[in-house]
Amino acid sequence: MKKTVKDIDVKNKKIICRCDFNVPMKDGKITDDFRIVSALPTIQYLLDNDAAIILCSHMGKPKGQPKPELSLAPVAERLSKLLKKKVVFAKSDVVVDDSVKKAAMELKSGEVMLLENVRYRAEEEKNDPEFAKDLASLADVFVNDAFGTAHRAHASTAGIADYLPAVSGSLIEKELEFLGEALDNPKRPMVAILGGSKVSDKILVIENLIKKADTIIIGGGMAYTFLAANGYNVGSSLCERDKLDLAKKLQAKAKKKGVKFLLPVDSKIGDKFDPKCKTKIVDNDKILDGWMGMDIGPKTIELYTKEIKKAKTIMWNGPMGVFEFKAFAGGTKAIAMALAENKGITVIGGGDSAAAVSQFKLDDKMTHISTGGGASLEFLEGKILPGVSCLQNKQIKKSKLKKVDKMAEAKKATAKKAAAPKKAVAKKAAAPKKEAAKKAAPAKKAAAPKKETVKKVAPVKKAAPAKKAAPKKAAAKKATK
Ligand code: ADP
Ligand code: MG
Repeated sequence: MKKTVKDIDVKNKKIICRCDFNVPMKDGKITDDFRIVSALPTIQYLLDNDAAIILCSHMGKPKGQPKPELSLAPVAERLSKLLKKKVVFAKSDVVVDDSVKKAAMELKSGEVMLLENVRYRAEEEKNDPEFAKDLASLADVFVNDAFGTAHRAHASTAGIADYLPAVSGSLIEKELEFLGEALDNPKRPMVAILGGSKVSDKILVIENLIKKADTIIIGGGMAYTFLAANGYNVGSSLCERDKLDLAKKLQAKAKKKGVKFLLPVDSKIGDKFDPKCKTKIVDNDKILDGWMGMDIGPKTIELYTKEIKKAKTIMWNGPMGVFEFKAFAGGTKAIAMALAENKGITVIGGGDSAAAVSQFKLDDKMTHISTGGGASLEFLEGKILPGVSCLQNKQIKKSKLKKVDKMAEAKKATAKKAAAPKKAVAKKAAAPKKEAAKKAAPAKKAAAPKKETVKKVAPVKKAAPAKKAAPKKAAAKKATK
């Protein structure tokens, strides 16, 4: 367990806080401020506790050069509006120079300052110790709250922790709690749903989840490599011929471990990779030559939904079909709905999966949707994230006690809730989303009330803010995959 801002004294301290302000921009304007909003709870906590705050982040890929269109100046402005407080923008093409150091030194408790895009410096991505030291020289404590870059060992995400005491902000805390708990301490049965385009992207995720799950459900493009490995004709479906052996080995591994490994039994196929192609529904032993499997079929949906109903923990990574095309979004949507109805823990990892759930407007029905695409994948692979491993550990004994207390409290609370008249719960569930969102802290989206009433492995918590759908890249690109 990692220390968080709440485990240390921040009063009158200078805090350098790494956030993920990598927001989409168009013509110098922020088109979606979700990531800025998500950073507010940690910033607000630091403000409420009398710290002086120096924020930093990257935006886009300036490749070590100052690029005015990737300046964080508009973020300072937006932050200022959201916090209702002046945010000083430390304009500097080299991020840290003498005037920035002076401004940081003069920053008082309760004041906020934002540094320029750290990737204006090539040293950032090289994790250069001198640059890390320079950043560290501005503050007394390092807080990492950028889960989206936690899988990168950069100067502002990991290197800086060599020079300052380092703890996590509340966003990273939440990610570790939900992803970690679902992976390492799941309430069983635990079902892992894996889809997406290619097996080769997900080999390590599948291998790691075979060690953790009771059931593995496969969908998406990767299913056809497994089917081909089992002797099926998959027509023109996405199929990695050089991974057939691997697909067989993975299935054998699951069998040996007693893990149920389910493949789709039918598909919605298309005659070309096009949103307006001809479509058919066929059993998977009847896929036509020249046609592609682009979604799971109705029999598969039924089979998978049954399995999902039994689950107490569900970890989902990878869409079940080409959900970007309306004709092939049905499978992914049905699975998302089955998760939304499940009363256990539902955790979504992966950028496209999060985008899909958001597209179906089911994000507030999930226990947790990870905000880090690449970082959540590496977490699911069982890798250690440098932006996390650099943080201080909690003292184990103390945290264990705390956890037991917290769990007991959560159980008590749940029991109380369960005893309360059902109507009250129903009312809560019916509360309009916007109202609930307003009531919560700025960044917190409305929690799924249904899940709140459920006994959880982890202390009962509100659902985390979901990642918004990123604008989809030209789907046509995939045709060439
Ligand atoms: P995530 O980002 O959630 O980890 P991936 O990046 O692995 O997910 O996969 C997402 C992509 O997989 C989507 O863009 C989707 O169109 C594609 N996909 C899903 N099913 C198929 C299929 N049957 N054929 C081709 N592409 C597919
Ligand atoms: Mg993806």
